[in-house]
Amino acid sequence: MRKTIIAANWKMNGSMELVRDLVGGLRSRLASLDNGAEIVIMPPAPYIGAVVEAVAGTGMVVGAQNVARWSAGAYTGEVSVAMAEDVGCDYALVGHSERRELFGEDDQVVAEKVAQVLGSGLSLMLCVGESLGQRESGQAEQVVRAQVEAALTGIDADRSDRIVIAYEPVWAIGTGRTATAEDAQAMHKAIRDKLAAMNFSANAMSLLYGGSVKPDNAAALFAQPDIDGGLIGGASLVAEDFSSICQAV
Ligand code: PEP
Repeated sequence: MRKTIIAANWKMNGSMELVRDLVGGLRSRLASLDNGAEIVIMPPAPYIGAVVEAVAGTGMVVGAQNVARWSAGAYTGEVSVAMAEDVGCDYALVGHSERRELFGEDDQVVAEKVAQVLGSGLSLMLCVGESLGQRESGQAEQVVRAQVEAALTGIDADRSDRIVIAYEPVWAIGTGRTATAEDAQAMHKAIRDKLAAMNFSANAMSLLYGGSVKPDNAAALFAQPDIDGGLIGGASLVAEDFSSICQAV
């Protein structure tokens, strides 16, 4: 079912103190949130258990920022989808541009991780997005459509209800620059059309925008017809800012 989702990507930030303070702050600020948005918190792996405990009874759910492309075995340092599920995650993030750029995760690796996630009980949050050069040379839609195709080719359409796409233009992540609401809407529409062309239940799928979403630009982005919420990095580390973004739906 198409739903509004606001997801927090803490990246490699946090501590037990932050878990207590930030989730405590969100518990009180979001207790009366009544706009139907699903709030997903994605902490670094060592804090997943603590966040699962801290959000219990709030309706907020938890996701992993990364999972392995293998299911189990001699892969030192990796975390499998089964482990993420076992410790209480509902979602796994795959294809974030930082993973693609800094860890060399190409379309093949992303597709393998997608298959792992959708072969488990987790829901997939798949990140796609173009670089600044690709946007400036007019290739943005073509690049993003190709990323969607590479990640989801061979995936059964009956998985549609467990697939969320986060459009994150690389030039907008952590830079303070954000896509205009109109440009973001145009890309979300292109992604939905691509999903429909691949026989997914596109109108029932949630498409999120990510890239320097802040309390002062969230409402305009979320008001667009094909934008079903956001994936929030920097602003998700401040309870007041993240709560305001959740309330902007
Ligand atoms: C992200 O890391 O997914 C992200 C969107 O970061 P920021 O909000 O800081 O741009």
